[in-house]
Parts: sequence; C-alpha cells; structure tokens
Amino acid sequence: MSLIVHKYGGTSMGSLERIKNVAKRVAKWYAAGHKIVVVPSAMAGETNRLLGMAKDINELADRRELDMLAATGEQVSSALLVIALQNEGIPARSYAGWQLPIRTDKSYTKARIESINGDRITKDLNKGKVVVVTGFQGVDEDGNITTLGRGGSDTSAVAIAAAIKAEECLIFTDVDGVYTTDPRIEPDARRMPFVSFEEMLEMASLGSKVLQIRAVEFAGKYHVPLRVLSSLTDPDMDLEVEKNSGTLITLEENTNMEAAVVSGIAFSRDEAKITLLGVPDNPGVAHSILDPIAQANIDVDMIIQNTSVDGTTDFSFTINRSDFARAREVIEQIVSTIGAREMIADDKIAKVSIVGIGMRSHSGVAAKMFRALSQEGINIMMISTSEIKTSVAIEDKYMELAVRALHKAFELDKEPVKL
Ligand code: ADP
Ligand code: ASP
Ligand code: MG
Repeated sequence: MSLIVHKYGGTSMGSLERIKNVAKRVAKWYAAGHKIVVVPSAMAGETNRLLGMAKDINELADRRELDMLAATGEQVSSALLVIALQNEGIPARSYAGWQLPIRTDKSYTKARIESINGDRITKDLNKGKVVVVTGFQGVDEDGNITTLGRGGSDTSAVAIAAAIKAEECLIFTDVDGVYTTDPRIEPDARRMPFVSFEEMLEMASLGSKVLQIRAVEFAGKYHVPLRVLSSLTDPDMDLEVEKNSGTLITLEENTNMEAAVVSGIAFSRDEAKITLLGVPDNPGVAHSILDPIAQANIDVDMIIQNTSVDGTTDFSFTINRSDFARAREVIEQIVSTIGAREMIADDKIAKVSIVGIGMRSHSGVAAKMFRALSQEGINIMMISTSEIKTSVAIEDKYMELAVRALHKAFELDKEPVKL
C-alpha cells in the first residue's frame, strides 16, 4: 500500500464525462489498496471565464477580489469529483484550501505556500477515504483567500505530497508526458521517458506550462518523486503499465542520461516589453526604473541597456503580459521624474529558449541558435543566457516558426545517443 497524490488538470476535469473518468481511475488505484489524495484544477476554461468577467469590469481589478473569484473554480470541480467518486462506491471527502489550511503569503494572484496542515487529510485517509483537496488556492494569516498563479494546482499537489510524505505525486494531464517541446506546436516533438530535475526546472521557468515552476521547486526541495502522465487513456488500463507511463522527473543523475546538448525548447507567449528612451545615464538609473516595479510586486525577466554617445541610455525590460497594464501605469508615472524622453510599451513579445545540461560543456550552441533564427528571418530583440539555457525575445507572431526551426536545427525529433 502506498500513499499517492494524483493531480488532474483542467482538460482532465473538463466535462462531467471526464470527471466520471477521473473517478473511475481513482477508484482503480483505491481498489489496489493505495491511499489516494486527489488535487483537481477547475474545469477547462473556467478560470479564464471568471477572470475575464472581472477584466470586463476593470482591467486593474482589486487582486484580493480576483482571488476570491478565481478560487471558486476549483471548489466546483472538487465537489463534483467527490460526488462522482461516491457514485463509484468510494468514500470520499473534499476540502477547500482554507479548511486544512494551506497557508500562503499575502501576494494575491501569485501567492507562495508557507505551510500545510495535513491532519485532516491523514485522519480521513486512515478512515479509508479518498481525500480531494482544491488545487490553486490557499489562505493567508488573516483568513483571506489567495491563489498560487496560473497553473498553480501543480504546486498544490506537490506541496501536499511533501506535507503528507506521499511516495509519489502523479500529474495527470492532457499529454502523455514531457516532450522535447510542446507537441501542439511541433508534431515531431518526442516524449522523454526521463527528464532531469534541473532541466525541468529551466523548462518550467521558461514557460513550458506542462508543470508550474514552483511545483518543480517543491519536488526538488522535498524530494517528491514526480511523474507526468496522461489522464485521457482508458481509466481501466492496467495499473502496472500506468505506473510506469509518462515522464519521470529524476533527481539523481540517471543512468539513462541522454547525450543531447540541447534537450528541449521552451517558449512563452505571455511576455511584454517596456522601453524607456533617452534616460539620462546617471548612476542609479536602473534602480530608479526597476524599484517602483519591484514595489508593485511585478517580476522582471530580461533587461537590456544601451548607452549612446550623447550620455543618455535606452533601457528595456520584459515582464509577464498579465502584469503589463500595471507595469505601464507604474512607469508612466516616473517617465518625467527620471528625465526620460519617452516610453514604448509592447505586449506582443514572445520568449523562446533552448535548454540542456549538455550546454555546460559545449560551445557554439547559442551561435547555432541565432543562425537557425536568422535563416528564418526572425529578428532577436533581447538575449539572456545561463549555464544550461539561452533565451531570446522575439515578435510573438514568429514564435511558432522559431520553435519549429530550433527543434529541427538541434535534431530533437531524433532519439539522442545514450552516453
Ligand atoms: P493541465 O490543465 O493538465 O494542468 P496544462 O495545459 O497546464 O495542463 O499543461 C499541459 C500542456 O502543456 C499540454 O497540453 C501542452 O500543450 C503543453 N506543453 C508545453 N510544453 C510542453 C512540453 N515540453 N511537453 C508536454 N507538454 C507541453
Ligand atoms: N485553474 C487554475 C488555472 O487555470 C490552476 C490550474 O489549472 O492549475 O490556472
Ligand atoms: Mg497546468
């Protein structure tokens, strides 16, 4: 008997038929003697629908109220799943984040989990129940409902798995594992049976939405074995086959280590860029631009600064598109105080990245990336690099072309040679 956390995403919970299938799959694991905690997302499209209504009223709606609103999606799907489980004859019970509680900080719309009290979960499991806990949400120390950022149910699942010391956390989704890139963009993408934790962390942080970055961080920090697998297969499929399907995120240097220099392409469509032109080039200028952005709790990603001969500088930075309206408002207020000539705001930016542990020991990888992009006529606006990745910011209309060109240039459709 094992203690296992299952997470089911929006598509997996997308209709009553799908919810009934999730109940059947959970019933199969339960019947095999496992203790199961299930963390569902809201039904597909629901979080967008809810947040869309708020945006239609006010683009800059109060973020506390956005969380109050968005958290309802997971409450609906959790209760429906318990009803479907009970229909299968399985004793089950659902909890909202605040009922456990899942304690977070106060950063509405992107809160971080601080602690989880697993007592109620453990008590119910010991009574033979399946426990369903809403994904995506928590509660701050003053009792306000918070949410964990888009895709946050992955993080809820891994954090719960860590809190109750589960043997494994299974992320059931609408693809059958982690691919070399999003298979919806590149049909020749290849499923990887194993991905190193480090590479998964980079891929997630660079936009691969198959796992939310904080979920991967938690899995690393608390050594939670993590597997990504499909929820769209026959729920009655053989349990032993299912247990070994999908992609395992491996913490150890594994024996199946692939020899590819670049192992995956990540991308994010949700980028925006703000540029200040003609800023007097004095010490402290970067701070005077970015400090108000930090005060507004907006994360900055890429930064570029060019000094011209006339003693002024052009300063650009990228942010997540969901923070665009707020960032623009913040910068508009400081343009004149810092003496900049003008601000240009562009929310049609995408970021494309190549990721691979092998980049550490190989040179010329970035140059190969830039050549592949130039052959497609794609202009690079910004570049950032780390030991195991190179990212470029480009016009978002070229994003899919860039992903496919890079996938081909690095031959990711082909099985890499084993070391
Ligand atoms: P869920 O609702 O189950 O959380 P998401 O839509 O958040 O599912 O994540 C799964 C999606 O991630 C896939 O449908 C796929 O389009 C996308 N994706 C992006 N990059 C990858 C990748 N490298 N491997 C697999 N899927 C990817
Ligand atoms: N429902 C939330 C979202 O759409 C959380 C999740 O699905 O993981 O972002
Ligand atoms: Mg997701």
